[in-house]
Amino acid sequence: MNAEVIAIGDELTSGQRLDTNSQWLSEQLGDLGIRVVFHSTVADDLDSNVRVFLSALDRADIVIATGGLGPTADDLTRQALAQATGTRLVLDQDSLEHIRARFARSGRDMPKSNDIQAMFPEGSRVIPNPDGTAPGIDLQVNRDGGRKARVFALPGVPAEMRQMWDDTVAQALRNCSGDRQQVIRHRRIKCFGAGESHLEQMLPDLIRRGRSPSVGITAHQATITLRITAAGETEERALAAMEPTIRSIHEALGDLVFGEGDDELHHVVTRMLVESQATLATVECGSGGLIAHWMESAAQFGNAYLGGLTLLGQNASRDLLDVPQSLLESEGLVSEMVARDMAQRVRQRFGASWGLAVSPFPSPSTDPKAPSRYYIAMATDTGVHSKSSTFLGHPDIWRERSGKQALDFVRHELLRERKVVS
Ligand code: AMP
Ligand code: MG
Repeated sequence: MNAEVIAIGDELTSGQRLDTNSQWLSEQLGDLGIRVVFHSTVADDLDSNVRVFLSALDRADIVIATGGLGPTADDLTRQALAQATGTRLVLDQDSLEHIRARFARSGRDMPKSNDIQAMFPEGSRVIPNPDGTAPGIDLQVNRDGGRKARVFALPGVPAEMRQMWDDTVAQALRNCSGDRQQVIRHRRIKCFGAGESHLEQMLPDLIRRGRSPSVGITAHQATITLRITAAGETEERALAAMEPTIRSIHEALGDLVFGEGDDELHHVVTRMLVESQATLATVECGSGGLIAHWMESAAQFGNAYLGGLTLLGQNASRDLLDVPQSLLESEGLVSEMVARDMAQRVRQRFGASWGLAVSPFPSPSTDPKAPSRYYIAMATDTGVHSKSSTFLGHPDIWRERSGKQALDFVRHELLRERKVVS
């Protein structure tokens, strides 16, 4: 069984509001084992709505639409649905009473225009809306060749739509999928340190289209997420079906994998520091305090982060961290030696077991000949480790990328230390 989700409203097609209903509904449908194959977004225009319903009914077994059930002239979903399915709109007396009662409770007269909300395509069922005036529509449609489709039209207001889904629609879908019902489950493996296409090359068999469980790959600000999806008769079976795939991913990618689900690098680094009974202090010149912000926000995983400095320019490095003027002059602020010096100084200044420094970013926008490298250094009680990195990708994500590079450097140092100990 496959589904199409339709989002209706000028506010969506004009870009004034983001269509969050389709995202939420698609996740719910996925959880019920129903694959969503199309999303359509359409303006408040009768003809366009009719066409969208016609094509959805042609290509999907289940159609879920949100929006356009209100009482105003731009709310056209019920008319469009009636037209697309060749049915008449008929009055549902109970719905009219419900709408009247809502107005009466709030001490207001019901405008005549609200009558339309009690009109339903003939043969449809009413989906009650406990929190609003607009009931939803549940309509069975006979298609060519004896095939059946089912449309659920819900209000656009997200809270009402979700309530009606939970109260009525989800169960109706469970009933109609009967014995063939499957649950779909996802797991997300998080990776850092290689590009999307490079990772794909490392997993040639797994990313293949049509494979089951399927493995999808997405990148966001240099973090790569592998999304594994499996279906099964029960949740346990769906999860068990993923296990061999997850193992293959770990075998192929090794330490490029840093976590799962909602894990971020700063969560993982914090947990690892706590396990090693280590503490961290940072000095950032290029990442604008981003690492400090991340590490501070990971405090729920333990108190390993002691604090950080965000420095701008040579003078701040000299005056606040005592980086020698001679070193700054001989090496330059953007240099591995200065990053190493800063890592040691911030470690001492905070009394931390680990000190992390990220060198300033040269700005190619102001200086086209600026070096394209930056430096990360990590000071521990056994010495200083450092590396240089090149700017890649769009300048808008340099900050995030360099901040993550630095945290990933700490993660690898912690992994290395663990291996030495064991
Ligand atoms: P409607 O049911 O079309 O009157 O929509 C009522 C309100 O719900 C709109 O003004 C939007 O603020 C919101 N809304 C409608 N559709 C969506 C959607 N797909 N995603 C998020 N919000 C929506
Ligand atoms: Mg609307």
